[in-house]
Amino acid sequence: MNIANLLRSTARSFADRQALSFGDRPVHTYGSLHDRAARLAAGLRGLPGMQPGDRVALAMKNCPQYFETMWACWQAGLCAVPINSKLHPREFAYIFENTGARLAFVTSDLAEALTPLSGEIDTLDRVVCVEDAEYETLCRHEPLEMQAVAESDPAWLFYTSGTTGRPKGAVLSHHALLAMTLRYYADVDHVGLDDHMIHCAPLSHASGLYSLPHIAKGSGHVIPASQGFDPAEVFDLIAMYPNATIFCAPTMVTRMTAHPGAEGVKPGQFRTIFYGGAPMYLEDLKRALAKFGPCLWQGYGQGEMPNTITFLSKAMHADTAHPRFEERLTTVGVPRTGVEVRIVDEDDNDLTPGEIGEVIARSDLCMSGYWNNPEASAKTLRGGWLHTGDLGSMDEEGFLTLKDRSKDLIISGGTNIYPREVEEALLIHPGVLECSVIGRHHPDWGEEVVAFVVTREGQRPSEAELDRVCLDNIARFKRPKAYFFIDALPKSAYGKILKSELREMLKAGA
Ligand code: AMP
Repeated sequence: MNIANLLRSTARSFADRQALSFGDRPVHTYGSLHDRAARLAAGLRGLPGMQPGDRVALAMKNCPQYFETMWACWQAGLCAVPINSKLHPREFAYIFENTGARLAFVTSDLAEALTPLSGEIDTLDRVVCVEDAEYETLCRHEPLEMQAVAESDPAWLFYTSGTTGRPKGAVLSHHALLAMTLRYYADVDHVGLDDHMIHCAPLSHASGLYSLPHIAKGSGHVIPASQGFDPAEVFDLIAMYPNATIFCAPTMVTRMTAHPGAEGVKPGQFRTIFYGGAPMYLEDLKRALAKFGPCLWQGYGQGEMPNTITFLSKAMHADTAHPRFEERLTTVGVPRTGVEVRIVDEDDNDLTPGEIGEVIARSDLCMSGYWNNPEASAKTLRGGWLHTGDLGSMDEEGFLTLKDRSKDLIISGGTNIYPREVEEALLIHPGVLECSVIGRHHPDWGEEVVAFVVTREGQRPSEAELDRVCLDNIARFKRPKAYFFIDALPKSAYGKILKSELREMLKAGA
């Protein structure tokens, strides 16, 4: 089934329902969104040289046209390549070239930097700004019928953040996107016409992926007028659009919790805050639960197995009477419905509960491979299992605790130290807003633990206080040997802390 069928069928049954708003301004009903996508689909297929299955890059910040272009691609039997709009032009160029995209849609903020690329990259015929007349011309065709595709055809190329080298395009087929959509109803929520999804995180990532289950059930979608994340704006929007679901990177949850506007949030305004993509620390989670109640849902996944491998349900966030309530909050939960998860050693042998190894997973959600990269595909998908590169352990009840990625592990005097444990301890200090722990070369020990700390406004815990909080919570040898107080942690375009940059800072400082 072509995934475009989700929009087509909602448009048929609920044509007059509000599908898309920009801030407080209505933009599309389901009927008009589908009509626009079908017209644009015709425009796309009419472009010289455009063939079924061709890739179309979406280099746009969140905007209503994101929905038009994405659904137009599928309607036309083309493959969408949503790319994080905060990348560097050189990174865009790499992805455009790697996908062999014929066309790139861009927003005006990126037009100047990206338009020249059509002259530089052989395969890229044109770059169209979705705010220009050229885009409107493409949308003026007679609507195109939904094109037939094979379920295994690529629908979405999800580019990894490239923290371990060049970004790779995880190929998500029409089937994988449908499997992901159905799993939402199994493990997150049954959504419907009275729900809303507010897209304050990039549509090229989880927010966009999980727009599909909401499109299929006719929920309303809202792009904030700021086209990004601003806690005050989110609180205004949830007052306007009830039963709101939003995706947040953990740092966004923390920022919302710390914002004075959080005090005014009423029960039911947030239906679901789903968070993931990076570690959520226990202290931050407890603060968020105290503010927003049990509307939090955690997913652990990768673009390679979209949204997600494991989950911590809202019920688990609410079950305060459970004897292991807090311990469970430090995990990333249990496998999603129909997803198999194992913890294995270097030779893919199963480890016993509690032992730490690589997390591997298998499901029909999984990518079919990396675009144009058979070597990386074979390595990552060996034996039919997705090798996540994440380290973790699973308890007897199937709850997965993520440790750090193997490259972040600190080995000091032959002993493994997981930075996350040290970070969790430091965050117990009320003056610590954010922190990140890495290893520094040490002539005797191999590595030693050092911590980068961002403090809350007006507070500056002493090193002795931070030592104390560590000594009270973790083994002495895990305590940082140096603290660096900085204004902000370096983060990727998706809000992940860039330990590689901290290592560079350390080297430069040395
Ligand atoms: P991405 O494909 O950009 O979403 O990045 C996936 C990586 O983010 C995973 O391999 C994990 O290392 C990390 N990650 C995703 N979800 C979580 C989570 N809930 N807790 C901790 N790390 C996570």
